[in-house]
Amino acid sequence: MSQLKKYRVILAGLVYVFLSVVLLDLKNEIPEAYFDASLYLQFVPSLLKFITTLNWVVLGFAIVLVLTALFGRIYCSTLCPLGILFDLMDRIKRVLTKNKRLRYSYEKPKTVLRIAFLVIAVGSFLLGTTALVGLLDPYSNFGRINSEMIKPVISQVNNGVASVLENVDVYTVKPVPVATPKLGVLFYTLAFFCMVFYLAIKRGRLYCNTICPVGTLLGGVAHFSLLKIRITEDCISCKKCEKVCKSQCIDIDNKTVDNTRCVACFNCLQDKVCPTNSVVFSRKKLNHKTERNG
Ligand code: SF4
Ligand code: SF4
Ligand code: SF4
Repeated sequence: MSQLKKYRVILAGLVYVFLSVVLLDLKNEIPEAYFDASLYLQFVPSLLKFITTLNWVVLGFAIVLVLTALFGRIYCSTLCPLGILFDLMDRIKRVLTKNKRLRYSYEKPKTVLRIAFLVIAVGSFLLGTTALVGLLDPYSNFGRINSEMIKPVISQVNNGVASVLENVDVYTVKPVPVATPKLGVLFYTLAFFCMVFYLAIKRGRLYCNTICPVGTLLGGVAHFSLLKIRITEDCISCKKCEKVCKSQCIDIDNKTVDNTRCVACFNCLQDKVCPTNSVVFSRKKLNHKTERNG
């Protein structure tokens, strides 16, 4: 595993665990400060908070934009819990099916669809409603998956265990409150979860590169990022890098990478992928091995 991919996976794992612990707080004991910290680098919550408070302290979204301008969409591979959940679902599927190989290939961008969702999200916000933004915001959707689907199940299991233990006079597990689900929200969350589950295991990051307005916005910034995945002239067109690209954005026929869709997962930089080391993450297009080494 390339060092970049290794660090990305570790960071994404830490972020995912931290956000899940905060959202799955069964006893509602986690202090407010942890909630604020968990939202700081979440793009939409941070941006909305800034717009409503005009407080410079909540500039997490600006940090995300700067990171994107420097390194591309690393937000989508390390900080967005929904994006990390996509990778987790795909990983679990491959472990369960014992199919460890990725088999993607280049696909043309769905530019009209991407822009349409972004316009819908921004337009509805400008018209004074945050409801549509809430339905499209990745953090809100991840929050609903946890609060509407996962938390009630864990709470019921906890209470079941607590009641069994109480019968034998063991009181180490305390019962926790279980919120009554709102059917409309639960139905939407289940439908959303099924959709992203299907897309994650079948099409990698298709959701991220068609529907998510945050992905489209960050993609626009990433197009001009300082560092990018690039293909050098040493490429022998074996297309192994295309196969591991979950964003389906490496076009080996034209030796280009669509950086608006690249989610900086660094799969293509892994040691065993490219036989000629022709995939690089660099500031400028490198041509020959000599140039890379020198
Ligand atoms: S595109 Fe959207 S859902 Fe996907 S990782 Fe990026 S912010 Fe998250
Ligand atoms: S080009 Fe594809 S495989 Fe490479 S980092 Fe970007 S999304 Fe990942
Ligand atoms: S894996 Fe390397 S050699 Fe093969 S197509 Fe990709 S860049 Fe070219």
